[in-house]
Amino acid sequence: MSSDVIAIDGPAASGKSTVARNLSEALGIPCINTGSLYRAVAWKLLRIGLNPESVTEEEVGRILADTRIAYEKPAPGAPPDIRIDGIFPGQELRGAEIASGASKVATMPNVRAWLLDLQRNMAKRGRIVMEGRDIGTAVFPDARFKFFLTASPMVRARRRLAQSGETFDGATLESVARDIAARDEQDSRRSVAPLKRADDAVLVDNSEWESDQTLQFILDQIREKENMEKKETVLAYRVPYADTDQMGVVYYANYLKYFEMFRSEMLIDAGLSYLQMEKEGIALPVIEAVCRYKSSARFEDRLTITGRVAEAKGVRVKIECEVRCGERLLADGYTVHACMDMKNNRPTRVPPALLKLLK
Ligand code: C5P
Repeated sequence: MSSDVIAIDGPAASGKSTVARNLSEALGIPCINTGSLYRAVAWKLLRIGLNPESVTEEEVGRILADTRIAYEKPAPGAPPDIRIDGIFPGQELRGAEIASGASKVATMPNVRAWLLDLQRNMAKRGRIVMEGRDIGTAVFPDARFKFFLTASPMVRARRRLAQSGETFDGATLESVARDIAARDEQDSRRSVAPLKRADDAVLVDNSEWESDQTLQFILDQIREKENMEKKETVLAYRVPYADTDQMGVVYYANYLKYFEMFRSEMLIDAGLSYLQMEKEGIALPVIEAVCRYKSSARFEDRLTITGRVAEAKGVRVKIECEVRCGERLLADGYTVHACMDMKNNRPTRVPPALLKLLK
């Protein structure tokens, strides 16, 4: 069985922390920022007067034997709250000196091994979002969901400078871009668990996206994968201009069209095209349609439409449908169909192939 972990890996300032925090909030599950653990090691070294850039692996090993790092109750959406030997360093962890020290100690195999158990234990209490550099490759190679975030170097430098939590004295865009590039280089070249995309991770280049678009994309991917695992049909559809009304939202009647598109897809997925059914003399005219509207969608929103055969009795079959935009439910409802024998124009029993789809 795979680990119920949503792994978010990627280079520095690629938007991992923001999306991991937003995901944890959207899904109501804890989030671990593993970079903070490496930063914690660098913080401890600096605190006892050692320079992470020059300290030996043996020295660090001795210090770690006497160090306690704990993640305090990682709550959904909460910022990282690390305690080192009983002290909360808070924002001190975000400094540039700590960032580069973290990158240095992260090249040490004994540091990585020491933190590996800590990270694996954190995922024992249920689904979790974990962000870092090697979550999908080394910490949880069996993670159920893997994403590799990236963005162009300049975009990343700009984001890092704008991050309120980061402290850079006298930094310029160019100097930050240089620091990030040096860190990426160090992270990608190290021999143990280097920064690299896992073969089965979804690549997310979010250079051109706002954080909510990245979140939306990842949520869609998670939902689609979950539905695929459940062998449910999920129809993805990008709202075209032609579907919107004068208020700029999807015109209400279109949802019945979406329900129909879904039914077609569901039948095709089950190896039962509706076209083929009609050729064989069976039609499924709608005799009842219900749609409850909860929220609206706009041009270019990406919708996912799910549903199922909910009831089949005598000559009637009821198909339920939900239309979502990310996690947001836009509309749900159902259609009831009468099975018609087209030759005699009379109702006929629901065909066995359709009954098989009954959930
Ligand atoms: O993500 P953040 O910038 O806080 O990470 C600090 C450093 O910790 C990174 O540059 C990287 O060297 C190291 N790191 C790592 N593996 C992780 C997370 C962070 O090597 N899973």
